[in-house]
Amino acid sequence: MDCLFCKIAAGEIPSKKLYEDDQVLAFYDIDPQAPVHFLVIPKQHIPSADALTGENSAVVAHVFEVVAKLAAELGLKNGYRVVNNCGADGGQTVGHLHFHVLGGVAMGWPPF
Ligand code: 5GP
Ligand code: ZN
Repeated sequence: MDCLFCKIAAGEIPSKKLYEDDQVLAFYDIDPQAPVHFLVIPKQHIPSADALTGENSAVVAHVFEVVAKLAAELGLKNGYRVVNNCGADGGQTVGHLHFHVLGGVAMGWPPF
């Protein structure tokens, strides 16, 4: 399948890995938008959050466990933001479910 993040998960395209297990991979974003910016993806190809079902959604809970573990390891003790861009209006540019984790700076809200 011609999917960038499937290729990264398979090691066919290099990435700066932070964490990997049988279900998920975490790696630094190539174009960081905060002092700390990494992505957590399921290894299974799920096109977007819109494609989550009772069959495949358990990995999302695992993603958030990994986010908490990595945030602690990276010293994000003042907090961080987890973002999922879903679909065109959501700003999704890579069609493989991924969660951005941004930290290391105090962020504003709303985002626009
Ligand atoms: P989206 O816009 O779909 O929510 O997020 C896609 C993210 O993937 C962007 O933040 C972009 O910088 C990142 N990205 C795109 N191509 C690559 C790549 O080849 N390697 C890494 N590490 N990140 C990438
Ligand atoms: Zn994929």
